[in-house]
Amino acid sequence: MRMVLLGAPGSGKGTQADLLKDKYACAHISTGDIFRRNLLAKTELGVKAGEFMNRGELVPDEIVIGMVKDRLRESDATGFLMDGFPRTIPQAEAFGVMLEELKTPLDAVVLLDIDEEILVGRLTNRRTCRACGKIWNLLSMKGDNLSPGCPECGGELYQRDDDAELVIRNRLKVYNDQTSPLVSWYAKTGKLYTIEASASPDETLKKIQAALG
Ligand SMILES: [Zn+2]
Repeated sequence: MRMVLLGAPGSGKGTQADLLKDKYACAHISTGDIFRRNLLAKTELGVKAGEFMNRGELVPDEIVIGMVKDRLRESDATGFLMDGFPRTIPQAEAFGVMLEELKTPLDAVVLLDIDEEILVGRLTNRRTCRACGKIWNLLSMKGDNLSPGCPECGGELYQRDDDAELVIRNRLKVYNDQTSPLVSWYAKTGKLYTIEASASPDETLKKIQAALG
C-alpha cells in the first residue's frame, strides 16, 4: 500500500497513521521524522535545512523533496504512508516524478474530513496537566466537573496558548489554504478518497478500509 494521508490538525491523522501502518504493514513516513533523522545524522540536506530552521524560515521545497527521495530509496519504504508530504503542488509534482522513477505508483490519497466547528470544539477543549504534562480532552472526561484535576495525578489542568480558539482558527485557515489546492489536484488523478472522520478512530479506520476495498 502506498498512501498519502491528508487531514487538518485535530482530525485524528496521527492516530489513523498508527492504525493504518499496522493494518497495511507499510512504513509511516512523516516529514517531522525525516527532518529529525537528517538533522541528527548531519546529512548535507540536514545541514542546509537546519540553517533555514535556525533563521525561522521555511525549508525550501527542493530540500524537503531531496530528503523524501532519500527516504523512499530505503528498503522498508516500498509500501508507505506519507504524513505531512506533499504539502504544495510543486511538492506533489516532484513526488509524482519520484514515484515514477522508482516504479512505485501511488495507490491512494486519503483525506480525513471533519466539520470545522467539530475540530474547533475538540481542540479548544484540550487541557494539559501542569504536574505530569499529560493532555486530556474535557469532552471525553467524565465525573466531577467541580474539581477537574488531572485524572492520573490530580494536578491542575490548564489550556495551553496553542489551544486557544483564535490560534486554532488561524492554524485551520493556514491548513485549508495550503491543502485545498492539493485536494483538487489529487481529485483529478482519481486516487482521492474523502473520508468523513468525526466518529471514533475505529469507525474512521473501517470507513477507510471499506473505501480502499
Ligand atoms: Zn497529571
